[in-house]
Amino acid sequence: MGADTGFRCRRGRGGEAGLPVQALRRDNPVSAPLILGAGPAGCAAAITLAEQGRTPILIDRDVKVGDPLCGGFMSWRTVAALRELGVDPTALGAHRVERLMLFAGDREAQARLPEAAWGLSRHALDTALRARAISLGARLEIDRARSLSSGRIEGERQEWRGDTIFLATGKHDVRGETRPREASDPALGVRVRIPAHPDLSRLIGDAIELHLFDGAYAGIVLQEDGSANVCLALRKSRLSRDGSPLELLRSLADRYPAFAERWRHAPDDLAIDTVGSVPYGWIADGTDPGLYRLGDQAAVIPSLAGEGMGIAIASGRSAAQAFLEGKAAPVWQGEFARRAARPVTVAEAIWKAAETPGLARLGLAAATLIPGLATMAMRASRI
Ligand SMILES: Cc1cc2nc3c(=O)[nH]c(=O)nc-3n(C[C@H](O)[C@H](O)[C@H](O)COP(=O)(O)OP(=O)(O)OC[C@H]3O[C@@H](n4cnc5c(N)ncnc54)[C@H](O)[C@@H]3O)c2cc1C
Repeated sequence: MGADTGFRCRRGRGGEAGLPVQALRRDNPVSAPLILGAGPAGCAAAITLAEQGRTPILIDRDVKVGDPLCGGFMSWRTVAALRELGVDPTALGAHRVERLMLFAGDREAQARLPEAAWGLSRHALDTALRARAISLGARLEIDRARSLSSGRIEGERQEWRGDTIFLATGKHDVRGETRPREASDPALGVRVRIPAHPDLSRLIGDAIELHLFDGAYAGIVLQEDGSANVCLALRKSRLSRDGSPLELLRSLADRYPAFAERWRHAPDDLAIDTVGSVPYGWIADGTDPGLYRLGDQAAVIPSLAGEGMGIAIASGRSAAQAFLEGKAAPVWQGEFARRAARPVTVAEAIWKAAETPGLARLGLAAATLIPGLATMAMRASRI
């Protein structure tokens, strides 16, 4: 690890121009709120607004919901928030998760989760959230935003204007509102899905597994169809050392027996998804008037905590409520930044320890010796 880990709890406004939003436009005095991005954050905002009789315009680049890269783990808090939005993961067939299993070198440890959590694909979740928003009256529009400036989204299809914009493009930045990338050795995400197999069900069962490697970790959890979602977060330098993501996964299987047991069920023609330069630890504590930043555009919690979706939903719901109450976006953004600071800071500390082999083994030993330590860490990293 270099001197500059790039994983401090960084704060910033995002944005390149910092332009003020214009006052109400004369030709559109009661413009509908625009929500850019129909992931968990954008849909949570759309549902909340539509529940209160508004007709938000939800803009997403994809006509069909794919299966976005994610660990597929939903914490008990995330599930409670989803139920409040009218989406019940158990009705979507989510896989029940009761335990945390930790693997580091030749050691392993386990802890019960404070409450039941769930494994569910993002395809299933995002499809249900979109459907819920539309059923309540949100208008879904398909367009890919090229850039964003005061009260204006420049899409590939058309230009969108609104006095209020909720920015919810998650992992993807939009020109004009990009998040700063400071890390000298940035984080990347790699995801594969290993098809259902009785051995996987036996090995993983009701656990969320965290396999800790040198400079990387893999989270593994079963999804609604019995497949194992394997999500790796790693440093770019780690990939440069090992070559392609597939070569890296194979070399991890060669060196770590517990990971190998799961990996041996991976077919040769495995699809591999990747995402680059994830600004873990970044929190937006400022924004422009009329622009509410949600989800990963508001705060990026290290994925090891499995709380990104929780933050996305909490931000979407609370920003929509703030808008309805007339609270200015910069005021709300500052409040949300303070709310997100503790879970993000805790998750960053755990992630740094987890990617350093000596510390990871020490943490594992501590988790075994001190009952309740892992549970405490899990609770502290929730929004
Ligand atoms: C490796 C990794 C593993 C993770 N594992 C977990 C986990 O197990 N549990 C958990 O809770 N969190 C996890 N997270 C975090 C979680 O994925 C995110 O925090 C969450 O998806 C954020 O939701 P969002 O709605 O802000 O953005 P997203 O889920 O990224 O949704 C953004 C939406 O915006 C749309 N969009 C993007 N760009 C444009 C554009 N230009 N124009 C129009 N539409 C656009 C996309 O199509 C998408 O629908 C993980 C993250 C990573 C990197």
